[in-house]
Amino acid sequence: MPRRPVSTPLIVANWKMQLGVAESAERALDLKTRLSGAKGRFQVVVCPSFLSMAGVKKALRGSTMKLGAQDVFWDERGAYTGEVSPVNLREIGAEYVIIGHSERRQLLGETDSMVGRKVISALGHGLTPILCVGETAHERNEGRHELVVARQIISALKTAPPPMGNGRLYIAYEPIWAIGTGEPASPEQALAMHDLIRQTLIELYSLAQVERSFRTLYGGSVTADNVNQYIGPKAYHGALVGTASLQPESFVTVIKHIDQGFTTKHL
Ligand code: PEP
Repeated sequence: MPRRPVSTPLIVANWKMQLGVAESAERALDLKTRLSGAKGRFQVVVCPSFLSMAGVKKALRGSTMKLGAQDVFWDERGAYTGEVSPVNLREIGAEYVIIGHSERRQLLGETDSMVGRKVISALGHGLTPILCVGETAHERNEGRHELVVARQIISALKTAPPPMGNGRLYIAYEPIWAIGTGEPASPEQALAMHDLIRQTLIELYSLAQVERSFRTLYGGSVTADNVNQYIGPKAYHGALVGTASLQPESFVTVIKHIDQGFTTKHL
């Protein structure tokens, strides 16, 4: 069997609404200092709150770390009180955007169709979407996890063009019961869902297109100790990290573990 093309692991910090504006910039600067000597066989993306993005962008200057947003609206401009335009995200230096995080779906009523429109918006404005999917504990207990995740992917992508050229789209599998609970999915559960995601994508696009343009992330109680169980040549291409990304020290430990694991698996 031919090996899958090697992809630099993507490690995304989701800071949610956990930090202040100045605090976010300070932590970004701290991260930059701690990673300054690193060789960089990984790509780090920091997703602070909207109001913290400008300060974080400035703090990340001179590093290879990229800026991401935690959401985006589907239109560029208009009477949409409180929403954030993809154009503004680009203006401020964002390159990635988290879309359809379960907290938005569950707490703010974001539907599959809204998520789909946001994916199209991101792709159309040169933002790399990180599309979050994942089932509740109840759905898993009823054996519906695969159906739920396949539905989330199909409805988000059915009207979206595949990423153009070197563009990428990341699917982050985040079982809701594993987010912020300290109870991550087992490697077997996560890898089974990785295979389901890949199969669902292949049914929507061609195998070649999936290999070229789609990547996967695991998220849900990721720590330095468990992260390498999820990432590998036949597994996820990276991680979406919440709690363990808030303190630069613990986030850098996660990144260094991924880097060491990647080297062992690929060299
Ligand atoms: C998240 O909310 O995207 C997440 C993965 O959080 P945690 O790492 O805290 O489970």
